[in-house]
Amino acid sequence: MSFTLHGLGVSEGIAIGRALLMSHATLEVSHLTITPRMVEKEIARFDAAILAVKGELVLMKENTEHAPAELNAFIDIHTMFLEDPELAVKPRDIIRERRCNAEWALVQQMESLVEQFEQFDDPYLRERKYDVVQVVERVVKELLGHPGRATLKAAKNSKEETLIVVAHDISPADAISFKDHRFASFICDVGGATSHTSILARSMAIPAVLGLSNARGLIRDGEQLIVDGQRGVVIVNPDPRVLEEYKLRKEQIELERSKLKRLKSAKSETLDGIEIQLQANIELPGDTSDALAGGADGIGLFRTEFLFLNRGDMPDEEEQYEAYKQVVKGMGGRPVTIRTFDLGADKDLHPEANASDRVKTNPALGLRAIRLSLAEPKMFHTQLRAILRASKHGPIKLLIPMLAHAHEIDQTLAALEQAKSSLRGERAVFDENIQVGGMIEIPAAALAVGLFIRRLDFLSIGTNDLIQYTLAIDRSDEQVAPLYDPLHPAVLMLIAHTIANAEKSGVPVSVCGEMAGDPKLTRLFLGMGLRIFSMHPSQILKVKNRVLKAEINELVPNVRKMLRLDEPGKLLEALEKLNA
Ligand code: PEP
Ligand code: MG
Repeated sequence: MSFTLHGLGVSEGIAIGRALLMSHATLEVSHLTITPRMVEKEIARFDAAILAVKGELVLMKENTEHAPAELNAFIDIHTMFLEDPELAVKPRDIIRERRCNAEWALVQQMESLVEQFEQFDDPYLRERKYDVVQVVERVVKELLGHPGRATLKAAKNSKEETLIVVAHDISPADAISFKDHRFASFICDVGGATSHTSILARSMAIPAVLGLSNARGLIRDGEQLIVDGQRGVVIVNPDPRVLEEYKLRKEQIELERSKLKRLKSAKSETLDGIEIQLQANIELPGDTSDALAGGADGIGLFRTEFLFLNRGDMPDEEEQYEAYKQVVKGMGGRPVTIRTFDLGADKDLHPEANASDRVKTNPALGLRAIRLSLAEPKMFHTQLRAILRASKHGPIKLLIPMLAHAHEIDQTLAALEQAKSSLRGERAVFDENIQVGGMIEIPAAALAVGLFIRRLDFLSIGTNDLIQYTLAIDRSDEQVAPLYDPLHPAVLMLIAHTIANAEKSGVPVSVCGEMAGDPKLTRLFLGMGLRIFSMHPSQILKVKNRVLKAEINELVPNVRKMLRLDEPGKLLEALEKLNA
């Protein structure tokens, strides 16, 4: 019988194949009371299982070459959980105090941790409960004598390209095995848009649908499935007509993808010969390979705050220097724009400690980004020194997030001068003329852009925050997500105003928010005068495709007319016409 399941499409593409049910890590463990004599033995059994799983993760990390940076980061998170006393020590106390078996002690502690994670306001942190469950599943399997790797071994005999993994949940560590197995797709009962699993699916370009609730209960091994990662739909046992339709769509998508790859070495310029720079946004040093694979002209935004997250300490100057050097060297002479840390708000250094404050103080309007940098001069000085030192290895530009006031720029430039002077004292080599740019992501900055232009070497428009602050919508709050509208006339006016003024003054300006990677907006931006785009590496060729077919002379008058509209319906209509 054919039926359809609806979930959250987290990674685009279509897969057609047979279901492979991933064996459930049984968390329904036996509840046993052990004798006092057995306690130490049970603790030793627990310790051995933790050690074995840690070893398994180390092996995975070593054996998986060319894994996306995120994958290794997730293994690190799982290893960190295994080393955390909450998981490595607390269950030992439970075994001792309640005299229960190791599996049961571990699951009790897991439940208490999951409850704590569920209290977080931040959806990213809330979703880390899945990591806790996945790590515990692994240890329980080990205790029961079924190490995790066994799960996928059986599938190795089948033709894997035709297999779609159906799971309750997939841990990042399991996803590592996917790299070796070449599965067509995966679908899960649980998981949100920012879960590790969906981030991984996107970075591996595998279609995936999550949050299907009970796919594992409804689908049987070997049943035929169609996964539509864009619409978030899974069709079980499709009828021949639907199957044919999807086969056709799949072929079309594949054809488009392979055609796009051919554009990698094409010069990025419009039909009327205007050169457009397409740069990449990255989060971690390892991401440069993706940027190069996408044909990026450079890094337009390195979000350095990710070096500071998911760890108990601060990266020191040496560690930061090595990270920045790796990116600069990795980009082989192409320009690298390093944004100073944008910590605070949803990228909180101490989420637990600030959990109660978050509601009270509205962190998006609080001590975030440059405000935090200026409030923590030592931390800022360390970062500025590390960036300056790395500038001897290749072209680096410095980008400052969330500026609103002239005095913030002046203070930043003074802090930079201080960092330079300390390096001069040590006779260190660095780029004395390093360019400094500012992010335009607060409406005040866009409106008073002149004061930025006079003080800075370049501008970069952060549309993600510009939308948030213009429309008063917390970008991480799913309850107001439908109001987050990149095409709101006010947003377009602010972007156009910034680009026009920068152009008039001859100051380079880019867009580095998500809007820059949306091919539907490429022609609009080109018509506004934008010449530098920075986006997720996977979007570069799609945007380049639009650039190559655009004629600026024709776009400019149409976009000018379009920007006079302030009726959303008419704006949409005009955009469709512009893209027709
Ligand atoms: C933005 O705000 O558009 C931006 C690029 O920065 P982030 O998404 O890191 O806030
Ligand atoms: Mg921003």
